[in-house]
Amino acid sequence: MSWFLQRVFLHVVMMVVGGVAGRIAGAPLGFAAAGMMLGAALGVGLVVLVDALRGRRLLNWLRGSQHEPAPRDSGFWGELGYRIERAVRSREMALVQEKARLAQFLSGIEASPNGVMLLDANDQIAWCNRLAAEHFGLDPVRDLSQHLTNLVRAPGFVSYLREGQFTQPVVFPSPGGRGMVSVILRTYGDGMKLLLSQDITERERAETMRRDFVANVSHEIRTPLTVLSGFIETLVNLPLTEVERKRVLSLMAQQTERMQTLVSDLLTLAQLEGSPRPPSDRWVDVAKLMQLAESDARTLSPGRHQLSFEADGPAQLAGAESELLSALTNLVSNAIRYTPEGGAISVRWQARSNGSGEFIVKDSGIGVEKEHIPRLTERFYRVDGSRSRDTGGTGLGLSIVKHVLQRHGGELDVQSEPGKGSEFRLIFPSLRVRPLVPSDEAQSRPGR
Ligand code: ADP
Repeated sequence: MSWFLQRVFLHVVMMVVGGVAGRIAGAPLGFAAAGMMLGAALGVGLVVLVDALRGRRLLNWLRGSQHEPAPRDSGFWGELGYRIERAVRSREMALVQEKARLAQFLSGIEASPNGVMLLDANDQIAWCNRLAAEHFGLDPVRDLSQHLTNLVRAPGFVSYLREGQFTQPVVFPSPGGRGMVSVILRTYGDGMKLLLSQDITERERAETMRRDFVANVSHEIRTPLTVLSGFIETLVNLPLTEVERKRVLSLMAQQTERMQTLVSDLLTLAQLEGSPRPPSDRWVDVAKLMQLAESDARTLSPGRHQLSFEADGPAQLAGAESELLSALTNLVSNAIRYTPEGGAISVRWQARSNGSGEFIVKDSGIGVEKEHIPRLTERFYRVDGSRSRDTGGTGLGLSIVKHVLQRHGGELDVQSEPGKGSEFRLIFPSLRVRPLVPSDEAQSRPGR
């Protein structure tokens, strides 16, 4: 039976029971008909009263926080309470799930490598992730609902937002004072805006470095080319004696050699940047590297310096032989070029206590002021440009050394004192160093 029939039945039963009881009670007093009517009305009234009390209980529960279960009644009120509670609970559940989904979504955006900000139609901040707050110099909680242009006043950005031409990103200095930020904006919904921001400080720095590099290379090549073209003009236009002609040709040869060295260093750098990391299982004898570096040094300084080469024991280095040799000979050549005649240059290999190893190239030359040391490995950085050029330097030697070391997981340590000399250490990690026991040494010799 449905609840409706039940309710009708209950009312009828109560009306009949009340009517019968009223009639019985009223009959001895001669008010049988009136007693019956009153009894029927009381019967129905009783049902209405009970309904009102149950309804009030349910209403009170609905008005409250609904944390407790709904009143448990039987029949109509019981079913009504149960169904309302079920609807409330399922809405609560949907809300919790919705909130969890939103939190998940926001934490996904939070993890984005870009800054993300949502603006409402009035350019007030509706939401932003931590990176966007960092890029714009904002507090992600305190600054919510603030007008973005009240907080970010970079003129480039403000006019970008006003002009409404959002096809290209805008670049401006980060209001946090840390580098440059690029922002692109997209509109959505009813005038809402999505801002994607990116810290492009590194990219800008790399671009500046690339531009500087191209400018430096052009300058380095143009100088000998200008000199050469001057000499060619002289040869063509002036009647020179044989001695003068020979002198001009030898100067021309010097300039050509300078360009060749520059191009060769540039190619070495390009190769170092473009090739895969050197193998960690190809072993090169330290003794062989020392031997080759020594013969190079003796060619560069035939008797002009006191040269010494020694190793504290036989060892091997894992990596690319040509690169390791290039790093070592660059240091040796620098030591010779920056040490006046009669000075001492020593090259040593020594194993370190933690299993790593190092080449130490020490000279008694002109040395370097402290403030230059951190910049020595920059491309084309020279402390004294004319001395470097006069001795055939390109300004790329130490950058080649740094690259080789980075590729071998090593590091460069420079100690220097002006007027006293310098010490350059090529330090290799233990993974790439192994001592040679005498039997290994015998085996490694023939094949290498
Ligand atoms: P360069 O071709 O000019 O020698 P490098 O990159 O090899 O270029 O060295 C950069 C600069 O570091 C040099 O121009 C020189 O000023 C300084 N330098 C390098 N090695 C030494 C050294 N052994 N003694 C003094 N100065 C040095």
